[in-house]
Amino acid sequence: MNRFSGKTAIVTGAGSGIGRATARRFANEGANVVVADRDPDGLRGTVADLDGDRVLILEVDVSNQSEVEAMVQAAVERFGALNVLVNNAGVGCDGTVTDLSFDDYRKVMSINVDGVFYGCRAAYPELKKTKGCIVNTSSISGLGGDGAMIGYNMSKGAVSQLTRALARDSGRDGIRVNAVAPTLVHTGLTEDMEDDKALMEAFAKAIPLGRGAQPEEIASVIAFLASDDASFVHGLVMSVDGGLFASTGQPDFKDF
Ligand code: NAD
Repeated sequence: MNRFSGKTAIVTGAGSGIGRATARRFANEGANVVVADRDPDGLRGTVADLDGDRVLILEVDVSNQSEVEAMVQAAVERFGALNVLVNNAGVGCDGTVTDLSFDDYRKVMSINVDGVFYGCRAAYPELKKTKGCIVNTSSISGLGGDGAMIGYNMSKGAVSQLTRALARDSGRDGIRVNAVAPTLVHTGLTEDMEDDKALMEAFAKAIPLGRGAQPEEIASVIAFLASDDASFVHGLVMSVDGGLFASTGQPDFKDF
């Protein structure tokens, strides 16, 4: 498939995991890709074997509004237009309402929520010109409470709502907006959890397909939502969860 030939996509959090797989998927489908992350080493790994003429590497902290604005400007300067923005950069955050530190609370909200808002705001005028689209990375953690992850749950709930609310406004400007809501994906974010055998077994038991996802299995859905194949899909927060929410309506949290 070559669905993005001649198009330009920005992917944030492209230095690892889902963002890396997504950037590579876009590049392999013909896109010019702006790979943005705060981790320059990760970005180098992402683009190592990609066509350098169609790649722009940017060190960006998405929680910094002016850096996000500069990212959009750099994409347009380099490739002439912007067609797709994937707001994917994100961090985890543990803690309850009483033990989560205020610094950690601010951090998760500034990256996971402010970063997505800044991206949508900065890219909007350029996407209006191209009738482009946005795909946000939410989470099943944005659909319910996980337990002792209140900051992360709040942040991903906000990403889901931002997606729906923006879609109401942006449709008339021809900008489609959707989100993916993955369950467990084996990435840098879950590295610490992977040592907890009991937790991993509980996940496998609760997910009808019996396992977590590989990042490429989320990237392919992001690419679908960003492509013309999804030309009438708008305002959707799409579970990509091996059936965890999709088949049951409610995951079986007693297993966790
Ligand atoms: P990851 O840690 O492998 O990748 C996240 C990337 O985001 C890293 O390269 C990191 O450097 C970058 N990043 C973090 N803060 C940043 C900032 N302020 N500015 C720019 N870049 C920043 O994790 P991942 O699982 O690939 O996470 C990608 C997205 O997927 C996140 O939004 C995460 O919340 C979401 N998600 C992950 C899972 C999972 O199980 N892994 C499940 C649901 C949703």
